[in-house]
Amino acid sequence: MAEQDYMISMKGVNKWYGDFHVLKDINLNIKKGEKVVICGPSGSGKSTTIRCLNHLEKFQEGTVSINGTDLIDDVKVVRHIRSQVGMVFQHFNLFPHLTVLENLLLAPIWVHKKPRHEAIKTAMEYLERVKIADQAHKFPNQLSGGQQQRVAIARCLCINPEIMLFDEPTSALDPEMVSEVLDVMVELADEGITMICVTHEMGFAKKVADRVIFMDAGQIIEENEPHEFFDNPQSDRLKMFLDQIL
Ligand code: ADP
Ligand code: MG
Repeated sequence: MAEQDYMISMKGVNKWYGDFHVLKDINLNIKKGEKVVICGPSGSGKSTTIRCLNHLEKFQEGTVSINGTDLIDDVKVVRHIRSQVGMVFQHFNLFPHLTVLENLLLAPIWVHKKPRHEAIKTAMEYLERVKIADQAHKFPNQLSGGQQQRVAIARCLCINPEIMLFDEPTSALDPEMVSEVLDVMVELADEGITMICVTHEMGFAKKVADRVIFMDAGQIIEENEPHEFFDNPQSDRLKMFLDQIL
């Protein structure tokens, strides 16, 4: 495939925080509809990698291209790319002073200039899909962590993104709430959206991922389809990592 045919393409990406070389020659091509799970030790550069894809972080070397557009430091380009990329964080990042519904209306109304009644209709449909429509008029702090994370996912879906990025979406949740969030993510995956998910939920990776990537110390060390990745790790570093988490 030619590079411009990939939904996500990172080529020779290097990034430094001051003197610290945080991303070392990252090369990653992801096809439309592909599901990729990224795992690796804390501090290995997983968050930084996916934050480079929607310009939440800048990088000093290399190229990133999203759905055929080269990501450059230009307001219009960044806006265009962000309109195609939804991101879900570990800490839901909902606006606490807005109701669930108002959280979902912000981007469609203010960024995408949708009429309010249309935005409400779409928002309610997505709240329905993440099974939380009955909470639409509550404030985030009146919901459980699992419910808040489902709201955060619905909020992303309201912009009808091509790509969803998840950064450890279940790691701040109490154990009993993990599966309600993973279930929503599995459904999304089934619908064909392109997905990158940083997670250590290996059950999810096995069920959903086309490819699992292992990062360590700012590098992609190993990648494979899930079966081979877990059952036949090649590098000592991945073997050690899997021993620790499985
Ligand atoms: P991961 O998501 O794999 O845990 P991160 O991408 O968050 O790793 O971070 C990679 C490394 O970069 C870590 O060592 C972290 O301390 C460092 N780092 C992250 N953000 C910053 C920053 N804003 N300034 C300096 N160092 C940072
Ligand atoms: Mg992280």
